[in-house]
Amino acid sequence: MSEQVKHAAFIGVVCGESERVWVEEFFQLFKTPWEFFRPHVRYSVVISTGEPPDDADCKLVIVFSSTPAEQRRPVLISEGQTVFAEYEGTAFPLYGKVAGFPSWGSPLARLRDSAMAVVVEAAMTRFVVIHAGYDLFAEVALLFSAGQPAGNALIPALDIHIAMLRDWILRAGIPIVEIPPVPAGRKFIACLTHDVDFVRITDHKLDHTLLGFVRRASAGSLWRLAKREISWREFLQNITALASLPAVYLGLRQDFWFEDFDRYLELERDTKATFFFIPFKNRPGQNVRRPHSRRRAAAYDVAEQRSLIEKLARFGNEIGVHGIDAWHSPERGTEERQRIVDISGNANPGVRMHWLCFDTSSPQVLEKAGFAYDSTVGYNDAAGCRAGTFQVFRPKGATTLLELPLHIQDSALFYQGRLGLKETQAWKICESVVSNAQTYGGVLTVLWHTRSMAPERLWGGFYIRLLETLKRKRVWFATAAQAVDWFRNRRAVSFQRLDSAGRIRVTLDRQADSEKLPAISIRIHSPNRTFKDIPCTGEPVMDVCVE
Ligand SMILES: [Zn+2]
Repeated sequence: MSEQVKHAAFIGVVCGESERVWVEEFFQLFKTPWEFFRPHVRYSVVISTGEPPDDADCKLVIVFSSTPAEQRRPVLISEGQTVFAEYEGTAFPLYGKVAGFPSWGSPLARLRDSAMAVVVEAAMTRFVVIHAGYDLFAEVALLFSAGQPAGNALIPALDIHIAMLRDWILRAGIPIVEIPPVPAGRKFIACLTHDVDFVRITDHKLDHTLLGFVRRASAGSLWRLAKREISWREFLQNITALASLPAVYLGLRQDFWFEDFDRYLELERDTKATFFFIPFKNRPGQNVRRPHSRRRAAAYDVAEQRSLIEKLARFGNEIGVHGIDAWHSPERGTEERQRIVDISGNANPGVRMHWLCFDTSSPQVLEKAGFAYDSTVGYNDAAGCRAGTFQVFRPKGATTLLELPLHIQDSALFYQGRLGLKETQAWKICESVVSNAQTYGGVLTVLWHTRSMAPERLWGGFYIRLLETLKRKRVWFATAAQAVDWFRNRRAVSFQRLDSAGRIRVTLDRQADSEKLPAISIRIHSPNRTFKDIPCTGEPVMDVCVE
């Protein structure tokens, strides 16, 4: 058995038929050698969602099950109301059924603020068993469909599940070969995006948008100045913009909302961004069961923005679809997609839905409409990880479409009626999100709307600060399609065990145009918690040996 220590973890997974799809997706995110369990094959680790097979030949067995065998003397803790557990100082939520172990094995993780163990470890005659009293793949299924409630947004639950599993394997003395969710030499990926809900203030003629602007720039600004939520300088900026309105409408002065495009071009010269344009003017969309859904319609016609779109693209920015009905209708989605293809020349645009409209069938519908990726899964009233992860994933119901989760949205942070935060509070939240991206890797997606830097929002200073913070980290700035393509290449990596020497063959089957994408690397984790990265530059097949 000792000779297994030299061999990297090759995991055999035992699970039910309905769990297989989530097991497969989980191991696209925890990209390490594994296969569905085959009898008479020797694994270093067996993961089982029920009692492990008697003939398992391995060093470590990890059971994820909320219905443990009687001899472990389990107690039922939750039948689906959220509970929090804690592992090595990190708290994480469990959304499904949870069992505890008051008197079996030694505790690895406990319920928060409680002595009750939810993950226990025990040495058996042939192997070590770790039993987690929850159903990991049911947790994955939930995170990749409904997602987490906004209150838990700051906890990357899925990324924590991956980190814990990795840690349990390493503490058993087994090295791990993994493709980390970041390019070689980077801490994480940053993806800057802008939803173009508005182009010019002059697109609006005495409508809700214009009146709202006037109210917030005048009385609203005065009120916020009195409460010291904005500075004198900001107050004057708003009043000046308000006073300039007649000249702006007469065409004597530049439209201050339109100026945001040049501001972004200047700020993002080295980073690039993705701009999502609304494909049709005056269409509020169907099935939007929210107050004031008529106001969802765009006041600009994208066909009249060709020169703007050309300019953005010429500077290396990506153009995508800010969808109206694509989330519920494949026909409408196809039409919306085609319009942006025709106008932008981007043959394969991705999508983010306006107002983040989405339901459980949307991934399938968007895929049918021909979109390669979606970036709608995020919050309108929080910042963080709705799907519990910073990684690009395949959502429920999709086969080719990938989801680029959205993490930080300006209006979610600052709008009254959303979080309505002061800048200092919003900054604390953003710092926490950035710090998690740094810890777990993946891609941090930021949405800052056009017009958000201009009066009366004036959220530009905050955005610049966020951008400067990201630039100081070891980050790869990618457009949305680049980030998704990078993950597509990572997903296409496969592993093969070369039994005789305990080596692992890593095959890169590049899906996307890799020339412009940074290298994937192979990470070898040693049980002493150090790791070594080998960048994959060139060779499509690499054999790795852990010692
Ligand atoms: Zn929008």
